[in-house]
Amino acid sequence: AEDALRQAQKMEAVGQLTGGIAHDFNNLLTGIIGSLDLIQRRIDDGRFADINRFMDAATTSAGRAAALTHRLLAFARRQSLDPKAVDVNSLVDSMGDLLRRTLGEQVELAIALAPDAWPAFGDAGQLENAVLNLAINARDAMPSGGKLTIETANTHLDIGYASRHEDLKPGDYTVLSVSDTGVGMTAEVIAKAFDPFFTTKPIGQGTGLGLSMIYGFARQSGGHARIYSEVGQGSTVRLYLPRFIGEAQVDDENQLRPDLPRG
Ligand code: ADP
Repeated sequence: AEDALRQAQKMEAVGQLTGGIAHDFNNLLTGIIGSLDLIQRRIDDGRFADINRFMDAATTSAGRAAALTHRLLAFARRQSLDPKAVDVNSLVDSMGDLLRRTLGEQVELAIALAPDAWPAFGDAGQLENAVLNLAINARDAMPSGGKLTIETANTHLDIGYASRHEDLKPGDYTVLSVSDTGVGMTAEVIAKAFDPFFTTKPIGQGTGLGLSMIYGFARQSGGHARIYSEVGQGSTVRLYLPRFIGEAQVDDENQLRPDLPRG
C-alpha cells in the first residue's frame, strides 16, 4: 500500500511535469500561429517588408518546441531502463485499492486474471503507471458510471501478425487488457490516440501524453499496444508484453535480446 502511494505521488509529479511541458509547448504554438497569421495579413495587404522578421520568430519558436519534445522523449526513455521479469497478475492485484479509490463509487471494478499468466518482460513501475493512466482515461470516459475490467491472458503472435507491425517479433506474449463501458472512440480518434499531445479533453484537463507514453513503454519492452473501441459501446486498450523466459533473454544492459527466439 505504501508502494502504491509512493507510485501515486510519482504519477502526480510526472503529471505536473508533463502538464508544465504541455503548457510551454502550447505557448510556443500560440506564438507560431500568431506569426503565421501576421505573415498572412501582410501578404494580403501586399506589405512584404516585415515578413522576414515574423518568419524568424516562427522558426525560433518551432525550434524551441522541437527541443522540448526531444527532452520529454529522453525523459520517457530514461524511465524504462529497468526492464525485468514482472508478475503482471500480482502487479494488478496489488493495485486494487488504489484503482478503486481512483475510480470512485460510480465505476465498478472487475479484475479477471488468467491463473497461469506468464511473467512478462518490462519495467514494473512503468507498467503500474500504464495501468493507472488507463484507469483514469476509462473513468473520464464514464462520467455517469460504468464498469472497468482488467484482464490478463497469454497469447502467441504468429509470424503473419508480427510482420504487419514494425519491430514486433513472433512469439509468446503476456496480454493485459483494460476495458471500459464508456463513450468509446471514433476511428479518427483511435488513429491519433497514441500520438503525443493528442487530446480531446478541454485545456487543463488533458495533456495527450498518457497513451503515447504507454505505447512507448510497450514498444521499448519489445511489445505492442492496441486500441479496440466503438462509439457508445466502450473501449479496450490491450498491452502485449513479451513473455519472460529467463536471464538469457536480456543482454548486459538488461535490454531484450532481439535475436532470441521466443515461444
Ligand atoms: P489525455 O487523457 O490527456 O487526453 P491520452 O493520451 O491518455 O491523453 O488520451 C488521448 C485521447 O484518447 C483522449 O483525449 C481521448 O479522446 C481518447 N481516449 C483515451 N482513452 C479513452 C477511453 N478509455 N475512452 C474514450 N476515449 C479515450
